[in-house]
Amino acid sequence: MKSHFQILIIGGGNAGISVAAQLLLKKPGLEIGIIEPSEKHYYQPAWTLVGGGVFDINKSVRNETDFIPTQATWIKEGADTFDPENNKVTTISGQDITYDYMVVCCGIQLNWGAIKGLPETLGKNGVCSNYSFDIAPYTYQCIKNFKGGKAVFTQPASLIKCGAAPQKIMYLAADNFRNRSVLSQSDVSFYTGKPGLLRVPEINKALLEISKKYGINLIFQSNLIEVNGETKEATFEITKGETKEQTTVQFDMLHVAPQMSAPDFIKNSALATEGDAQGWVDVNGENLQHNKYNNVFSLGDVANTGDTKTGAAVHKQAPILVSNLMAVMDDKPLTGSYDGYTACPITTGYGKLMLAEFDHTNKLTPTFPLDPTKERSSMWYLIRYGLPWLYWNKILKGTS
Ligand SMILES: Cc1cc2nc3c(=O)[nH]c(=O)nc-3n(C[C@H](O)[C@H](O)[C@H](O)COP(=O)(O)OP(=O)(O)OC[C@H]3O[C@@H](n4cnc5c(N)ncnc54)[C@H](O)[C@@H]3O)c2cc1C
Repeated sequence: MKSHFQILIIGGGNAGISVAAQLLLKKPGLEIGIIEPSEKHYYQPAWTLVGGGVFDINKSVRNETDFIPTQATWIKEGADTFDPENNKVTTISGQDITYDYMVVCCGIQLNWGAIKGLPETLGKNGVCSNYSFDIAPYTYQCIKNFKGGKAVFTQPASLIKCGAAPQKIMYLAADNFRNRSVLSQSDVSFYTGKPGLLRVPEINKALLEISKKYGINLIFQSNLIEVNGETKEATFEITKGETKEQTTVQFDMLHVAPQMSAPDFIKNSALATEGDAQGWVDVNGENLQHNKYNNVFSLGDVANTGDTKTGAAVHKQAPILVSNLMAVMDDKPLTGSYDGYTACPITTGYGKLMLAEFDHTNKLTPTFPLDPTKERSSMWYLIRYGLPWLYWNKILKGTS
């Protein structure tokens, strides 16, 4: 096995495979190594639809080997420690790998254990989450079997991937309850650590209206801190001005979005942003180059680019990173600039979707010449059928 690469990519998920494919299309001779421990590759955006009962979970996973570009070398294990001063990464098994340039894109860590009692009860007792391949099908079991009562949905205050996913499943659930005539006997609540539903004012306003139509109770600035699956109780810490108070509520079903951070091996490395509790990789948010190490770049969920942790953001970032990395290799100035674009395709009901696209200033940046604050069936079909196809056939091949 080779132990030195021109470009070493950490993580072969959405970002890593897209970048490797795009680099090799531009310069086929590049020597690229990809450190990736998983045999499987997941199309995670589909898990909302899995939880809603309209997508087969087995269609959201494929073999990683089918997407590693044939010219690249797959190092099938996890990266463990970084020595960026000496351009060296050590893997979990203790193998040292050196590089000329490195791209860090190993995704996000789900901190299930940060909520007391959650790991023990997740996947049973009505406690579900679309944030896991194994548990997302159970979300639909909870929704389908709900006969009225208390349905509780949560979102932490901290940055998470796909910040709208906790709401998307709530609207699908409420629509399902309405279609089965159990909504009127239900108490649907959204406990979110955020001060609003989405940071873009126009979309926030539209979502407040949609929540009102379903009769959803919104409890802002509230963080889930404990779950008791046996007694079906969830405890929240709610911030009210200067004070914090705890409240415990009963639930019949509980959908949890866990707290998230950079993976521990990034958080504890020289690559992390100093003083950042979540430990994101310290990059320049515009050119995606590391702020200390010029031969290191980062993109995707692990990069410190703000509240942009989506596949849609990766789609915008990948060509910018590729062009800037190639500029550094050729000793040229970096011209690619990322504007913080991200997108939230919000499933507001079955067959209805609001496609919110925006930049880091919260300005709407719609791809289509349509009012993005309106729910549309065309967007539902795009997300249900168009995007999964695009992901497997174009995005991971570097051609979109
Ligand atoms: C429920 C849900 C709904 C979502 N909905 C949407 C949506 O509608 N639209 C949208 O745009 N995005 C959505 N997303 C977010 C999207 O899936 C992510 O933002 C995207 O996958 C980020 O790509 P990434 O490459 O940074 O991370 P990932 O695709 O997660 O890839 C990270 C890779 O790093 C690997 N890795 C882990 N540890 C190591 C290690 N030690 N060494 C090397 N590699 C390692 C992992 O195995 C993985 O392959 C959703 C996500 C979820 C969970």
